[in-house]
Amino acid sequence: MSLISILRLKITFESLLIPVCMVLFLVSCKGPSESGVMQTGEYFFPDGYLDQPENIPSFWIATPDEINSFLKTKVTKGKVERIGTSAGGRPVMAVMYGEPRKGNGTTTFSGACGINNIAPYRGPDNDKTVYVGLGGVHGYETEGITGVVNLISVMETGKDLNGREWPEITSVKEKIDRIILIPLLNPDGRERVPVIMQTHKGASKDSYLVHEYLNTGGKPDGTLIGWPDVKEFIPMDFSKVGFPGGYPNDAGVNLMHDDFFGNLQPENQALFDLAAREKPDIIINMHTGAPGNNYFMRMHRPMCEPVLNPVYDSLYISVHTGLTLQGLQSTNDPAIEADPAKSPRGVYNLDCALNLHCGALSVVVEAPSHGISGTDRSGKPVMQTPEMILNGELVVHLEAMRFLAETGGRSKWKSISDKR
Ligand SMILES: [Zn+2]
Repeated sequence: MSLISILRLKITFESLLIPVCMVLFLVSCKGPSESGVMQTGEYFFPDGYLDQPENIPSFWIATPDEINSFLKTKVTKGKVERIGTSAGGRPVMAVMYGEPRKGNGTTTFSGACGINNIAPYRGPDNDKTVYVGLGGVHGYETEGITGVVNLISVMETGKDLNGREWPEITSVKEKIDRIILIPLLNPDGRERVPVIMQTHKGASKDSYLVHEYLNTGGKPDGTLIGWPDVKEFIPMDFSKVGFPGGYPNDAGVNLMHDDFFGNLQPENQALFDLAAREKPDIIINMHTGAPGNNYFMRMHRPMCEPVLNPVYDSLYISVHTGLTLQGLQSTNDPAIEADPAKSPRGVYNLDCALNLHCGALSVVVEAPSHGISGTDRSGKPVMQTPEMILNGELVVHLEAMRFLAETGGRSKWKSISDKR
């Protein structure tokens, strides 16, 4: 997903010409060499687009090397597993906590829908609760990536990498049977963007340009490809763009909009295989793209089985109430911030496909970006610091896990397991 539609709508043709007039320079980036993937060639970045802060917080772990090093050296309680390999040949890693489901079901998920009972699909331990936290489906949406890495830190030590203790996460994780954390599904996209944290660009109407260029890509003249226009070309032909952005993998495919019933990309194949094996109840898919005029974490209603809509309403209330009580929404009033009727709606995408694949309630949460300011509901400026974003990421995971623990998951939800 991407960002700030309100701000984007304000962009005029003239304002888009401004970056074109900037001095462009070439940055040579090494393209992937594996067969079957596109050559990325040389990328264009308008002047200043690769600027980074002098001091990037140590908790902001968001490159494939940093993540893999963290998993190798810091994870002792969880089981680190390479679940797949990206189109560009990079490992896709996960950390597993708790025991996996045992035994097989007797039917497909579709078959379970046909008899209005999920138990025969999930098997003898249908009652088990399984949570998946997912980051980095889009490679430059670093907020969700560092959020999952920090959640792994809390699972291991009780503290995030900023030193904050999270006793509620430590407590709730004991009430969930299985937790699977995938910090970076799209390492190709992440590796392609040579910025870990951009300098803060303020709140002007053009402030989003750098993030958007790095995220969804740019044309050879340095202007944006634009969101959602970038979705018109999947796979993206890297030879026709100035910079592909962090959205696609090295085969040019935006993993949110894969060919789900045809040829799945290897990253999604790994995720789908894991989902079929683990049969999660909830998947939280963390992105960056909070609305500019309400610049706070926002959960999106997925296109999913109708029976899950009321479950989603309850999950939305839980997560947004938690964020509100932590001071991480526009107001301090849960009645305003946690109204599921106001939830944005997703389209047919990865989360919809995951739901239909394994029955999970899979939802996108859009975070604000560390590099841009927005406004609150009343129009006052809002700057989201990396610390605030980190806290927001962890509160979302905490509240979603608490919801799963308290409701008992898919086997207990008012869902297809209820007889008609
Ligand atoms: Zn996204």
